Amino acid sequence: MSEKQIYGFETLQIRAGYCPEKHNYASTVPIYQTASFNIGDTDRLKRLKSREEHGFLYTRSGNPTLDILEKRITALEGGTGALAVASGMAAVAYSLLNVAEGGGEIIAVYSIYAGSYNLLKHTLPKLGIKVKWIDDSYDVESFRRAVTNNTKGIFIETIGNPLINLLDIKAIADVAHENDVPLIVDNTFATPYLLKPFDFGADVVVYSSTKAIGGHGSTLGGLIVENNNFNWNNGKFPHFTEPDYKVENKNLIEVFPNIPFTTRIRLHYLSEFGAVLSPFDAFLILEGFESLSVRVEREVKNTQIIVDYLVNHPQVSWVSYPTVHDKRNCNNNQLAEKYFPRGAGSVFSFGFKGEQENINKFLNSLKIFSFLVNVGDSKSLITQPSQTTHSSLKEEDKAKSGAFENALRVSVGLEYVDDLISDLDQAFKKSVE
Ligand SMILES: *Cc1c(COP(=O)(O)O)cnc(C)c1O
Repeated sequence: MSEKQIYGFETLQIRAGYCPEKHNYASTVPIYQTASFNIGDTDRLKRLKSREEHGFLYTRSGNPTLDILEKRITALEGGTGALAVASGMAAVAYSLLNVAEGGGEIIAVYSIYAGSYNLLKHTLPKLGIKVKWIDDSYDVESFRRAVTNNTKGIFIETIGNPLINLLDIKAIADVAHENDVPLIVDNTFATPYLLKPFDFGADVVVYSSTKAIGGHGSTLGGLIVENNNFNWNNGKFPHFTEPDYKVENKNLIEVFPNIPFTTRIRLHYLSEFGAVLSPFDAFLILEGFESLSVRVEREVKNTQIIVDYLVNHPQVSWVSYPTVHDKRNCNNNQLAEKYFPRGAGSVFSFGFKGEQENINKFLNSLKIFSFLVNVGDSKSLITQPSQTTHSSLKEEDKAKSGAFENALRVSVGLEYVDDLISDLDQAFKKSVE
């Protein structure tokens, strides 16, 4: 399909990046399950090396099935290029390293995915990368105050986890750009259907495609997308412009003017650290992609119905979801109107009124909801972050992240919503027996 014409999201999620006529007219994207590609002859090798001809050599640096997935997310985001990697964590880690390698600083908020939190809290500092933490993600001025001469990027999630806090992406992007650093956004919970971070100034968007993009909890995957609005040649990122041994000691930005960010990750971090997505997994993610908008739309609808049920439930002390109008959610109400006109996703958390013993009985009594750590599945899921995803955090950091002791996080799926409510209802009753 030609990407020049402007198509709607629903068309792109099914068609973008794939031309059947170039693949023996196969209707479904073929799985190029191969480690390596024949070079053909030495003349072709010359053409490949000089980039006169685009081709594949070895799946760690590129594969046609992955290439289609990369083109699809690029089209959906309105970017210039993308890179598929083996997991969301590889996407986050490679993106942060690509800006801050060599001792840079990152500004980050507390309420983020626990894997990203641990990366920023423990592992990146050991590699010499400093992190400035933002306590209150609603306070845009605190981002401004955290900037130093050595800041290399601001990292946020569009829907914080598990606090379910929204952020003023445009205002934070302005802070980043005033200081010549990029805004890197993890848009996993929102999906490109509900929010396109590039529209609000993001420079790099990352996804765990394990979640709603894949949509069926069947495989891990990660995506990194760029739109090339950011000037990597501004003096703060010399590693983008110094002679690069992967491109005949040329300047990477000159060789790949539209896709310097993802190409640098492909040539260095993916090729050398090696978190490659398998072609089969890329296929599963592409299959998931085809129904993304339809699934998300229904999940948002189901979520609102369940949230309305919980808000009035006597065994629930609070519900954190941007459409709930109370003191806890007031900062999110306006942000939701600006950034999430189609709904604020299918993940929310709520406070369980009762002791841990009651929470255990509740979780053990659920018959439909799966008790597990994942989100964005067609199946409805529930977990207690303080005991699972966020259990390694110190108590005060758990609170800052929103992993309160009594908080349960729910990811709403596609089952019949009345059945989901009945399931919660019977489990609440059993929790106090
Ligand atoms: C799951 C998740 C990740 C990590 O993705 P994996 O595919 O599990 O490595 C990163 N960010 C967010 C917001 C996530 O939900």
